[in-house]
Amino acid sequence: MSMLSKRHLTAELQSGGTVSIPAWILDTGKPGPALLLVAAQHGNEVHGSEAMRRFVDLAAGQMTCGKVFAVPFANPPALHTRRPHIHLQPERPYADDGGHNMNRWWPGRQDGNDTARLPQAIYQTFGDEATHALDLHCWNRHNAAAVLIRDVPDIRELARQLGHRFVRVSKPSGPIESTGGYTLSGCFCESGRLGVTYEFAGQYTIIEDEVRRGLRVIVNMARSIGLLPGRPTEGDNPVLFSDECESIHVASPCSGVFVDAGIRMYDEVEQGALVGHVLSDTDLETREVRAPVTGYVRGLGASRPHCDVSITGHHPYVLEGETVATLDRRKA
Ligand SMILES: [Zn+2]
Repeated sequence: MSMLSKRHLTAELQSGGTVSIPAWILDTGKPGPALLLVAAQHGNEVHGSEAMRRFVDLAAGQMTCGKVFAVPFANPPALHTRRPHIHLQPERPYADDGGHNMNRWWPGRQDGNDTARLPQAIYQTFGDEATHALDLHCWNRHNAAAVLIRDVPDIRELARQLGHRFVRVSKPSGPIESTGGYTLSGCFCESGRLGVTYEFAGQYTIIEDEVRRGLRVIVNMARSIGLLPGRPTEGDNPVLFSDECESIHVASPCSGVFVDAGIRMYDEVEQGALVGHVLSDTDLETREVRAPVTGYVRGLGASRPHCDVSITGHHPYVLEGETVATLDRRKA
């Protein structure tokens, strides 16, 4: 019997009809950790679906204990509209969710709105059995991918082993006020299990280097919790925790069009290194932008509020003082 199978979960909608959510299941038939992987809760965030596909393929040949529950398209209705949530209108921010932000509804509600019923279908099938959760999201491409954790016991060591440059730490918090639910990882942490979120860089797209970074995080998580044999592979060194770091915003010296100098996200740049230049739209001078400190590139290019739903937010025309890069370094 193959260890790999597929299953379709069914959510009955308030509006009538049903949604079918496909999942891969890897079951060794032996006791061990059970990892729940979820991607594309927001329909415009699809890097995790491809990284998960590769992970399932790889894990199927290596696992000797435990289980994987992998849900690559957690929110099919939002995927079909190619937007973060169902019913979200063009250029409306994520926060205008009208109660349809899926990642505020875990563990879901059977009598809730159409979106609240999707996590319910997933959680009732896999939630109790899963020992760990990894929730795969994407934010805009100008922000480096990051591991997001709540500051609960044992999670820092796990996050370090994932080998990813940036880890954002937040305080444990109670239920989300508007829904009474949690994020998926919050739901796991609340019940004393470890839940981690990973944000890829780039929505509405699949970038090969980003898929590989995310795959490394998934594989390292599986190794860290004993689901896959072997030690986690060393990735980025150092791993930078947000609460041990300071962020230095690199400001544009004038208005104009910002062009980066080919520096790479995640890499270290030395103080004084060329970050890019701005072609002034007023005097047509070219002004260099140099790194004010030595730090790791966590942000690059224009990244205005709501650029994740609005293409003008990505436009390289910047104003004087606007952030064109962000460098992180350990606090002295
Ligand atoms: Zn998301």
